[in-house]
Amino acid sequence: MKLVVVGAGPAGTRCAVGAAQRVPGAEVTLLSAELALPYDRVALSRLLAGEAEVADLITHPIAELATLGINFRAGVAVAGIDRAARTLETAKGERIPYDRLVLATGSTAVRLPLPGATLPGVLAYRDLADVRAMLRLADEGGHAVVIGGGLLGLEAATGLAARGMKVSVVHAMGWPMDRQLDAEAGALLTRRLARRGIRFVMPAATVALEGERHVQGVRLDDGRLLPASLVVLSVGIRPNVALARAAGLAIARGIVVDDAMRSSDAAIHAVGECTEHNGRLIGLVKPALEQAEVAVATLAGAAACWQPLPEQAALKVSGTAVWSAGEISAETAEAIILRDEGAEEYRRLFLRDGRLVGAVLYGDTADAGYYMRLIAEQRPVASRAELVLGSSFMDAAA
Ligand SMILES: Cc1cc2nc3c(=O)[nH]c(=O)nc-3n(C[C@H](O)[C@H](O)[C@H](O)COP(=O)(O)OP(=O)(O)OC[C@H]3O[C@@H](n4cnc5c(N)ncnc54)[C@H](O)[C@@H]3O)c2cc1C
Repeated sequence: MKLVVVGAGPAGTRCAVGAAQRVPGAEVTLLSAELALPYDRVALSRLLAGEAEVADLITHPIAELATLGINFRAGVAVAGIDRAARTLETAKGERIPYDRLVLATGSTAVRLPLPGATLPGVLAYRDLADVRAMLRLADEGGHAVVIGGGLLGLEAATGLAARGMKVSVVHAMGWPMDRQLDAEAGALLTRRLARRGIRFVMPAATVALEGERHVQGVRLDDGRLLPASLVVLSVGIRPNVALARAAGLAIARGIVVDDAMRSSDAAIHAVGECTEHNGRLIGLVKPALEQAEVAVATLAGAAACWQPLPEQAALKVSGTAVWSAGEISAETAEAIILRDEGAEEYRRLFLRDGRLVGAVLYGDTADAGYYMRLIAEQRPVASRAELVLGSSFMDAAA
């Protein structure tokens, strides 16, 4: 059985490795548009900040892939799927036959349609090539502007600041990470990152990127011009569905999959950030890997079913612990706020019908796993003390 996986991000690679190990008779080919061995995308921020080298990020050396019998090919972008002939066509015109196909094409960073958005020096933050380009510009010093103060934008900003650039973050809302944090935790985070030299310009909107042969500045809607030899666009991601759409698969925002990760064509599975399951997209690596496991089990003939857990997000900036999970803006939930101003610690817990549905932890995230279990299990909370004390409640009870 010829199994071809398109995309060697975490989901595609996990699928290829799992199929090579557990799907009897599978001849696995793994195709990647990127010119790199499978690597840990989540760790790109460590590379940018100078905390890791490229070699540290490689998750599957070529020898390991060869030992597993996986035919891995880098720099191969798939341009079309002929579903009737069960054949792929690459951008270079090569035809590759398949019996079963897995689409793991991930997401692409949203590029704002701003004047100047295609100038050299304007980058997204998505892959190794983006980070290499950022590092080349960071070597020259000067000013960087990060547009978007979400998780990735802040990781880009702190990484570039650690590389010696003068960094500003332009954010449309009143505080960074507004999807994960409320205003109070957002203000604490702003102060902490400002102490590292990051300047926040918010709420503010960008109207143009200016420069002639290279970006030189970011024009804001109030007329201000922020100097910049590097602009990082970090304003969100979009599932990469062009290939699947052109092939006539069912698409909503992502490639529509059932609980077994099957697309609308029984010969084609989809996993990871390119998928949409029960009307929901994913944007984190853990559910992408779980989906890959489900696809492998389905390909091996087992009755597998993906059951999404509440999502959790953490900021990977050393010395700045921020974590959130579940429903954190739930209007129908009761919010409990605990703060220790001296220690710059803060937590906000969301309860509905006596059960924890979401949590934001700032400063001290040691109890993240404890709260995550409460959210996932949906068991009634024993008492307020259980919530306030977190994991030490269990220690005290033991
Ligand atoms: C800087 C950064 C930090 C992150 N930090 C975290 C974190 O802390 N925690 C977390 O949970 N998640 C984090 N994420 C998100 C995480 O990386 C994604 O959830 C994960 O990579 C999704 O995996 P995927 O395999 O679905 O897609 P992707 O990793 O996007 O991989 C898709 C691959 O498919 C390739 N491809 C696309 N189209 C084609 C084609 N036509 N032909 C061939 N190849 C193709 C792409 O080039 C890409 O290599 C981070 C992301 C970034 C960019």
